[in-house]
Amino acid sequence: TSFSDSKLGFENKLLEDVEKAGLKKPTPIQRHGMPQLVAGLDVMCLSHTGSGKTAAYLLPIINNIARENDTSASSRSKPSSWSGKVAPTIPKALILTPTHELAMQICKDANLFGSGLPVESFAVFGGQNMSYELKKLKEGKANILVATPGKLLHLLSEFHVVSVAEVKYFVVDEADDMFDRGFFPEIRTIIDQFLPPKEERVNALLSATFPNQIQYFAKKQLRPEFIYVV
Ligand code: AMP
Repeated sequence: TSFSDSKLGFENKLLEDVEKAGLKKPTPIQRHGMPQLVAGLDVMCLSHTGSGKTAAYLLPIINNIARENDTSASSRSKPSSWSGKVAPTIPKALILTPTHELAMQICKDANLFGSGLPVESFAVFGGQNMSYELKKLKEGKANILVATPGKLLHLLSEFHVVSVAEVKYFVVDEADDMFDRGFFPEIRTIIDQFLPPKEERVNALLSATFPNQIQYFAKKQLRPEFIYVV
């Protein structure tokens, strides 16, 4: 298997950036996870840092968003004169992560792999300057949003600069770490109050361990026919 496998259908520009980033042969998690996500199936990945898990979900998401952008030729009007009524940033993908380091890393990877495609990633996280975040979100360019749960919930509740109501790809990375840090109530609020129903999105849950509370979360938050990837 390779990244250029026709069943993945990755764009040439994506493949060029994958090669530039030094990725040669897909890792097991990429080999097993990418085709599921490309096919629009939900996945529960048992994966640790260093397994190549980030590219395993980013590459299908970037490729799908780029393709959808191409066919719908920006169905969404650009917020050149933002009135303050409609949120200017309406991402197609939302990736939740426990720490600001991980958020920055994922955002960097997404912009690297998507450099030749109409894909732009932005990260919001606790501790980052709020006026900088608001300014960037008002520009409305990001179609991939990477976020720590608390900061995202704050932005969604208090400011009308971002809406996740049109998210088609939803990723919870390092779910066990999120649980240990007590982030699940915030994640549930984001899901229940701000995201479209799970039937309307492709969902990926990644975790290094798989204790009961993560299994319960996966069964509740993923579509019933989800696939285990180990
Ligand atoms: P992750 O598990 O997502 O934290 O990735 C760990 C590191 O592995 C990152 O620096 C990636 O750039 C690198 N990586 C991911 N996929 C591959 C691959 N197929 N071949 C070589 N390196 C990779």
